[in-house]
Amino acid sequence: MGRPSPLEIYALLDKSNCQDCGRDTCMAFSTDLLERKVTVQDCTHLMQDPKQATKRDKLIALVAPPQKAIIVGVGDRKCIVGGEEVLNRHQLTYYNETAIFIEIADDDPDLETTAKYLSDLVVERMGDVLRVNGIALRCVSGDAEQFKLAAKRLSEVSPLPIMLACMNPEILLAGAEGIKQLRPLLYAATKASWEQVGKFAIQNNLPLVAVSNNLDELMSLSASLQKLGVKDIVLDAMTVFGPGNLALTYDNIMQLRVAAIDKEDTNAGFPVMGVPAAYWSQVDTNDGKELWEHQYQEIIMAAIMESIDTSLLVLHSGKTKEEIWALLAIMTLRQSIFSDPRIYPSVDAGIYEIGEPNDMSPIFVTSNYRLTKIPVEIDIKGANVNAYLLVVDSEGIGIESAVAGGQFSAGAIAEAVKEFGVFDKVKHRILIIPGMAARLSGALEDEADAYVVVGPRDSSGIGKYMKEQWKPEEFMKIYKEMKE
Ligand code: SF4
Repeated sequence: MGRPSPLEIYALLDKSNCQDCGRDTCMAFSTDLLERKVTVQDCTHLMQDPKQATKRDKLIALVAPPQKAIIVGVGDRKCIVGGEEVLNRHQLTYYNETAIFIEIADDDPDLETTAKYLSDLVVERMGDVLRVNGIALRCVSGDAEQFKLAAKRLSEVSPLPIMLACMNPEILLAGAEGIKQLRPLLYAATKASWEQVGKFAIQNNLPLVAVSNNLDELMSLSASLQKLGVKDIVLDAMTVFGPGNLALTYDNIMQLRVAAIDKEDTNAGFPVMGVPAAYWSQVDTNDGKELWEHQYQEIIMAAIMESIDTSLLVLHSGKTKEEIWALLAIMTLRQSIFSDPRIYPSVDAGIYEIGEPNDMSPIFVTSNYRLTKIPVEIDIKGANVNAYLLVVDSEGIGIESAVAGGQFSAGAIAEAVKEFGVFDKVKHRILIIPGMAARLSGALEDEADAYVVVGPRDSSGIGKYMKEQWKPEEFMKIYKEMKE
């Protein structure tokens, strides 16, 4: 069907420009709907006027992505999986990053401590907050009461969405019964259990995972579940390790995504998940290798899955502070893969205060490329320096390229100095420019009426630079002599 145009969307709207949706016009609503900044439900006219029901239904179908988005959990930490429109990020963007769920066994004595640790875990990187998205409670006990109790305890200590994982439908549904109001993801509906699990999912409006290592059987399961009335399905073609199985696992995920997104096969049109945690049940880990060598294999599989936009992953490693490296690898990779290629990575130009600068604090100058400004800020903070950071509009381009391309020039810096009243904040006229912009120093001294010193090439050297080379009184003496 392809992506609809704003005009196709506009044709189905009321066109009254009533502004109830917070947009000035219906046309503005059309473009925002296309960008998923609003939903059809935000148009009061379409939702409340019975005469517009047909148009509303048409619009909902028109903007629905070929891979359905599924919500797991409730509240602030609920997560949305799937909902993608393209196979490759550069074709548009990915909308919902891979959800990372960590498995905990239902007989784990540290269940509460681990769940709390995972819920509170926050990694800040380049201005983003990276977090775990959910917990997969795995039935190891084989006991319905134990599973039910563990699900309850988990829900009481953690706001994270829960996946209940048990191949025995009686035990699975016993666990789900006690926490169904939290919209857990049911794992799994198989060839043997789909009807029983499917009916429970319909009655309680819950998402479920359909599982089979045979793609034809998985598609048939999806068709049967939809016919039964299940709306929210996640597909798992199973994760397998061992010789040749990495390629097989990769291929199955790609086939499901191609069928959903390119072929618009309604049986495949759902999020796809992977279970790197399966490593620990498929591979003999008592082979004399170090623990990390096994964990590494699991994380490699997770990274491969993430790189092909697998909607949800279940990991075994990463549940303790000692295993944070595993999560860092997966979360930082995810941050790169799921950044929006249409948005230039820039920050606002301006003068930023770092720490508690006073009127003799240094003024560092940098570009407004996001991945330059943020590391420089972090390095200044890390060096315990109170400073001003002048961020110049270099059109979102890094220092080296912007100096070459003329976006980070003496004129642009001088203009920013004036625009942001930089020298009104201090009793000196010293600017510290990046080492990579050293050739601008002469021209900048003239254009900004400043004493310009060249800082380190890499901001990691700022601490050392401040200790060894920052001599404001001496610099100002030279500046005054130059002026005489
Ligand atoms: S609420 Fe609906 S009719 Fe009113 S401006 Fe928004 S899109 Fe148009």
